[in-house]
Amino acid sequence: MFENILPLYGLNSDDTTVNLFGDGLINHTWKVTAAEQSYILQKVNTDVFKEPSNIDKNLSLLKDFLNKKDPEYLFVSPVKALSGESLLDTPSGYFRMTPFVEGSISLNALTKREEAYEAAKQFGKFSGLLADFDASTLNITIPDFHNLSLRYEQFKTACANANPERLEQAKEYVDFINEHKSIVNTYLDIVANDEVPLRVIHHDTKINNVLFDANNKGICVIDLDTVMPGYFISDVGDMMRTYLCAASEEETDLTKISIRKDFFKAIYEGYMEEMAAVLSETEKQYFTYAGKFIIYMQAIRFLADHLQNDIYYGAKYEGHNFNRAINQIALLKEYLKMEEEFTTPLSSMKEQHNQPHAL
Ligand code: ADP
Ligand code: MG
Ligand code: MG
Repeated sequence: MFENILPLYGLNSDDTTVNLFGDGLINHTWKVTAAEQSYILQKVNTDVFKEPSNIDKNLSLLKDFLNKKDPEYLFVSPVKALSGESLLDTPSGYFRMTPFVEGSISLNALTKREEAYEAAKQFGKFSGLLADFDASTLNITIPDFHNLSLRYEQFKTACANANPERLEQAKEYVDFINEHKSIVNTYLDIVANDEVPLRVIHHDTKINNVLFDANNKGICVIDLDTVMPGYFISDVGDMMRTYLCAASEEETDLTKISIRKDFFKAIYEGYMEEMAAVLSETEKQYFTYAGKFIIYMQAIRFLADHLQNDIYYGAKYEGHNFNRAINQIALLKEYLKMEEEFTTPLSSMKEQHNQPHAL
């Protein structure tokens, strides 16, 4: 396959090595080491991204804007093939290639709050630089990705059509979701509120979508497939969901589901470092809500899939999505506990957001 792809970029496959690279879960990713420089080659996952050219067009618009806005900013975007195209539609699939960011490191888990601070700062910087970009000009690469009210409706449908045995067994968790429906109502308030605008949002803030340097400083964000118009709560909330707890959504020992409060503070400080001047006062009031929004949405997605016999996520073992839903509900419970304690400290943190060394 590579002997057909590499020449399209003017690379000679004889003096180029290609190795599978990274721990991304969506696309196929290889590191291409050529005589002059290295690249990341990707085959786009068209099960997830039905129309890869939508992504390509988005990246091109963002690149033009960012190059003018801040020429120093490292925006990792695809290079052009000899044909002039930055996305290649080949018999083996859709391919694109970005320069490899030399000296970069990817983390798969966070062990230090400084990592949360750096990552949040990079996601904030990205949306902050694009604050004046008209988000409505971007293509939607995954429709309704973070549309919580639709996800909730889908959950209700899943319950109505559920495998009866699974529904009975999941009753306690289904009840919990329904008892916390106010989280959906708040989302609807946000959608209706002009003070919470659609912005350019990354929508996949996993820690391995930030590149770090050898000194553990953030370099830039990558994995821009889900960059779309959205609300800032999507990025902040997904950082909360995936950074606050040392255990992942796969953990079945619920005693390990706890929240690192200092990481919450680090996310707040890092994100606000870049976004405090951009977000409206109304948006800032929804900062803590962001975590509930995303954790709740992930819980209902896992639970709905379990009730529908794992048709979307698949299951590596019987009850896999049920366990993931239970994990996310446990995380949400911990988050709600933290929120009760946090009302006062968050407002005092607000005054500190201009002090990057307050960490
Ligand atoms: P996926 O959508 O499958 O997660 P990513 O775009 O995140 O794919 O790429 C997978 C991994 O490849 C990243 O987590 C990172 O480790 C590495 N990677 C991607 N692009 C680059 C790049 N330009 N320079 C260095 N590493 C990269
Ligand atoms: Mg990724
Ligand atoms: Mg991705």
